[in-house]
Amino acid sequence: MYNAHMQNKKRILTGDNTTGKLHLGHYVGSLENRVKLQDEYDTFIIAADMHALAYPKYVFNTDVVSDSILQVTIDNLAVGLDPKKVTFFNESAIPEIYELAIIFSMLVSHSRALRNPTLKEEIKDKGLGDNYSLGFINFPVLMAADILAVKSDLVPVGEDQLPHMELTNEIVRKFNSNYGEVLKEPKPLIGKIARLVGTDGNAKMSKSLNNAIFLGDDEKTVKEKVMSMYTDPKRIHATDPGTVEGNPVFIYHDAFNKNSAEVNDLKDRYRLGKVGDTEVKEKLFSVINEFLAPIREKRVYYENHLHEVRDILSSGVKKTREEAVKTLDEVRSKMKLSAF
Ligand code: ATP
Ligand code: MG
Repeated sequence: MYNAHMQNKKRILTGDNTTGKLHLGHYVGSLENRVKLQDEYDTFIIAADMHALAYPKYVFNTDVVSDSILQVTIDNLAVGLDPKKVTFFNESAIPEIYELAIIFSMLVSHSRALRNPTLKEEIKDKGLGDNYSLGFINFPVLMAADILAVKSDLVPVGEDQLPHMELTNEIVRKFNSNYGEVLKEPKPLIGKIARLVGTDGNAKMSKSLNNAIFLGDDEKTVKEKVMSMYTDPKRIHATDPGTVEGNPVFIYHDAFNKNSAEVNDLKDRYRLGKVGDTEVKEKLFSVINEFLAPIREKRVYYENHLHEVRDILSSGVKKTREEAVKTLDEVRSKMKLSAF
């Protein structure tokens, strides 16, 4: 039988919090690279359902978290990841990962854990105030455990994950220099767009900020979202010269419209005040809708064949667990953590 792990390929681990469904930001930030590299790398995709519990909104709303395991897996399958090649699993099914996370948390000082720009940004953006848990602060350490459990070489992520990757590498260096070489320093791989803006103009399209176009959105929803997108706030009339740079509508055109002559023409006319927002948005809607059509169709297939998705996850959990057990054994043995 085909067994990717026998081929000694380099590894990828990446994935998504199970806090809803995936959107265009995930696609350009990470999914596109996952699809592109699935033949070259032995790929593990994590549905991070322990990480979802780091947020107060989800820790007592575990129905959403549990359903989202299937939803994010379906999204990954729908954009073209091949379950015959790629290993899918959910985080909470691998207890070795949280065992590693506890061990790694001993190697990170409290002040270092707090010195993380992405956590600070999330506290602000998600309105967490001081109502966040110890688990939230430990989020990057748990992510290090995910990555290091399978000794991943490469981690395709959006820019917001870079501070977490830095911490991961610090943990590797600290561990290896104190106990002996066990862990491997992974490299991040940033997508075509490091951080896609939201439809509301917020710096990041996010599942939790209500500013996302989801991969499974139907045509009508996509149209509504595109037509009400934030553009250049200083432009009142179609005849006013507008700003293209940093304008979400043009950022999306650049990301998804393959017809660069059309994009350039729209930009030129926008700058001169010779095109209305409506035309720019209608063209964008067509492009995004066309991009999403085949993804939507595959989503519907998997929605109607949930048993296949469950089987994919269940065999992935077994495979991942074998790797995590090996890593944990090595870690415990180097640290002389005894089992009597
Ligand atoms: P949440 O708000 O619940 O954190 P999210 O939308 O940030 O959700 P995650 O599951 O945290 O989604 O992110 C999964 C991956 O997608 C990460 O690598 C992240 O960097 C990337 N990603 C998420 N949003 C964007 C975006 N707007 N642009 C580029 N990459 C993104
Ligand atoms: Mg996030």
